[in-house]
Amino acid sequence: MIVDRARIKVEGGAGGNGCTGFRREKYVPRGGPDGGDGGNGGDIVFVADSRLDSLLDLQYHSTWKGDPGGHGSGSNCHGKNGSETIIRVPPGTVFFYWEGEVPIGEVVEDGERFVAAKGGRGGRGNARFTSSTNRAPNFAEKGEPGEEFEYRVELKTIAEVGLVGLPNAGKSTFLAAATAARPKIADYPFTTLSPNLGIAYLSEYRRIKLADIPGIIEGAAEGKGLGHDFLRHIERTKVLLFIIDLGDPDPLETRDVLERELEEYGADFSDRPRVYALNKADIPENRARFEELAPHFENAFLISAAGVEGIDQVLEALWDILERLRSEEPELEPSAEREYTFEAPYTIVPIPEGFRLEGKALLRAARMTDWSNEQAVDHFQRRLRKMGILRALKRMGAQEGQAVFIGDV
Ligand code: GDP
Ligand code: MG
Repeated sequence: MIVDRARIKVEGGAGGNGCTGFRREKYVPRGGPDGGDGGNGGDIVFVADSRLDSLLDLQYHSTWKGDPGGHGSGSNCHGKNGSETIIRVPPGTVFFYWEGEVPIGEVVEDGERFVAAKGGRGGRGNARFTSSTNRAPNFAEKGEPGEEFEYRVELKTIAEVGLVGLPNAGKSTFLAAATAARPKIADYPFTTLSPNLGIAYLSEYRRIKLADIPGIIEGAAEGKGLGHDFLRHIERTKVLLFIIDLGDPDPLETRDVLERELEEYGADFSDRPRVYALNKADIPENRARFEELAPHFENAFLISAAGVEGIDQVLEALWDILERLRSEEPELEPSAEREYTFEAPYTIVPIPEGFRLEGKALLRAARMTDWSNEQAVDHFQRRLRKMGILRALKRMGAQEGQAVFIGDV
């Protein structure tokens, strides 16, 4: 089973409740309010870890709940903040909302983070609500619930070079010879069941990331084989390395078959440079064939992946191309500004029973209100008045006795 996609639910930790407390003082029946704030709930954070190469772990653990913040307590004691929940994923992991098309985040470099769900804010204790008109507030805020999202998580291998070839061409063998990766090698198709990433070191500071893509078979783009889905992994590579078996009935036809597969995939690979490694040079008749075929390829190399022959020349050629591409790359633009959209603080929607209020800040305040406490409800009402909502409701024709909904309240 190849795991390069997963569906996961994340929920940030809930904020702790604020506390309603009063100092005990001699001779004072009720001392000043001293209820502390609740702690913030912990975030759920994805972190890229280069030791991982699949999303398998997420399949077994698909629901994550954040660490809740501690409740506030008397003597102005602040509740403990919830700790972060870290989920490790391979570099190249991309995040989408479950039904979304547009990626909303990704982690590329080792250690890079993506905050998937923020923890809720801790509720404020009653000490914070002291005012000239209310010296002994008898209510506190509840903790805010954490954010809740459902994500589709996809792994896109980010390699500079993608290996393309029919099953048994020798891709895994090549990768093993060129890098420290040790993929399984066997004499049947689909030996490589997940894209294998390897890093080839040409010298201390020259390294190339290669991805071995499981064999494309003819017709894979119509769903016959494994091929199609895996092509997503080479979408981002900069150079394609074709590995072609010199023992194929017609290696030029093999190249055409591979090209057709790439074309049918839909993404545009046409202007990506290609290098051709014609493999299995250790078999004597293949050498003669190479002489005959080489003129028909642009960058052809004779190699023996199994005999570790000609590998370095291929890597050097790949390096030269990558260097050239790097020098042509435009300077990095400062990262695109996030788009800010103005969000009205609240909206009033008429409904048959009366009105419904919408708006992030408002919903949050409602969720943090302890509705069983009269003072807390009063406090919330005052907030509505301050925001001009009561007046706005009147303007919209609100009548005594009509219902006003805020979230599920
Ligand atoms: P992949 O399907 O493209 O990953 O191919 P593999 O690397 O798994 O190799 C398929 C078969 O070809 C294995 O039996 C390898 O031992 C063999 N093979 C790979 N490279 C060479 C080579 O250079 N010479 C010979 N004679 N056999 C090779
Ligand atoms: Mg293989």
